[in-house]
Amino acid sequence: MVMIPRIPLLSALFTAARRRHDNRIPLHMIDEPPHRVRLASGLFRNWRRAVGWPLLAVFFITPWLSWQGKPAVFFDLNAQQFHIGGWLLWSEDLLLLSGLLIGSAFALFFVAMYAGRLWCGFSCPQTVWTFMFIWLEEKIEGSRQMRRKLDQGKGTRQQKVRRALKFVAWGLLSLATAITIIAYFYPLAQWWSDVIQGDISSVAMFWLILISTLTFLNAGWLRESVCTHMCPYSRFQSVMFDNQTRTVRYDSARGEPRGKHNPDNTNSGGDCIDCGLCVQVCPTNIDIRDGLQIACIDCGACIDACDKVMLQTGRATGLITYQPEQQLSPLQRWRLWGYGALALSAFAVILVTTLQQPPLSASLERDRLALYQLTPDDTLINRYTLKLHNRSQDAMQLTVYDQQQILLHTTLSAGQRAAHSLDIERTTDTPSQALELRIEDQRSGYQQELPARFTNPRVRTTSLAANN
Ligand code: SF4
Ligand code: SF4
Repeated sequence: MVMIPRIPLLSALFTAARRRHDNRIPLHMIDEPPHRVRLASGLFRNWRRAVGWPLLAVFFITPWLSWQGKPAVFFDLNAQQFHIGGWLLWSEDLLLLSGLLIGSAFALFFVAMYAGRLWCGFSCPQTVWTFMFIWLEEKIEGSRQMRRKLDQGKGTRQQKVRRALKFVAWGLLSLATAITIIAYFYPLAQWWSDVIQGDISSVAMFWLILISTLTFLNAGWLRESVCTHMCPYSRFQSVMFDNQTRTVRYDSARGEPRGKHNPDNTNSGGDCIDCGLCVQVCPTNIDIRDGLQIACIDCGACIDACDKVMLQTGRATGLITYQPEQQLSPLQRWRLWGYGALALSAFAVILVTTLQQPPLSASLERDRLALYQLTPDDTLINRYTLKLHNRSQDAMQLTVYDQQQILLHTTLSAGQRAAHSLDIERTTDTPSQALELRIEDQRSGYQQELPARFTNPRVRTTSLAANN
């Protein structure tokens, strides 16, 4: 028999890997996929609707809105412009976007630390679209039991037709989602005209198919797998939690030992009657009675289901609650207020910076080939390149003045960039000096000062020679 020698390094690596595997946060998926979710009505579902419907309305309606004849929100990637209402942002304003992302991150930390995964459970597109797909599924295919029968191949012919209809409904919703997303980057009027004429570009077609397919797969099939296996936010959320963070919890002291419901209430067990409803309504397919889990998105569906059961069995509600482990006065939570203050500061800086953006961006660049030029009539010229960018949504009629002398007169359409050669002339005995050019828009009366420098090394040389 051949003995395989033990390799100490490999052995140590295997042991470490096994130990790490053993220490993973457990994920207890209850149903074998597909998990057929039962919709539960109640307070938390109403809250989800109150948050989700306005967000959906904003998402679907915004591309239809216009502002002064243009789409109200439009990301023009070709022109590198972003139209948001009356604001026109340019690619060079991406710094503002970084500020916005930093502010949003702190706002998310604030909300997560105070109320757990509120974003995930109530406003994350993955959750909102998943619940819409589940709603369509339940309306078309019927109850959870009927859907599970169909999964086991026991459905009637009519139920099979209903399943096909469900796929059509999911497909239409996915298509509407894709068309809306594309409309943020391609004007809707142009989009419709292309569709009617059957002249959709291959790029638009590619994005239409890709976004529709991803929406269909994410909300129809992957569902909880996206939250538990793909979403990075669920992985680092624990660093934002402390024991005063509100999360969905099962009161095991009150609920255990669980047991079947006794209508006479004579059993001495806990309040949980092990009906399993909290599991059936869970969109991430977990049992909250197993404790706090990484897959829980704090949607509160299990609270709605359990409260109903408690009321029906004559017990007090709140066996599953949305509570922190420890209640502290908000004033004692300095880290929470720190996040809030940082988020507000970032948003304030962005707002002030955006409001102060000038409608015209202008810069002067000195001619690098010659410091100055001397004309036969003894005039000394400094040559510059003036770069202009009309950042506004209206045309500009610009005049550039050097003192009272007009150096340039030009017209820039909305968003246009231009470069002009500019000669600043002085007599040969004029010393080097700072200048202030003035740019004026004849249409709006907007004025901007532009600092420049006139350089004449000849005067300095002469004066130095005289001193010597
Ligand atoms: S819904 Fe409530 S009573 Fe029913 S199993 Fe869940 S925790 Fe127990
Ligand atoms: S355990 Fe409850 S709160 Fe958490 S995801 Fe499931 S239903 Fe939502």
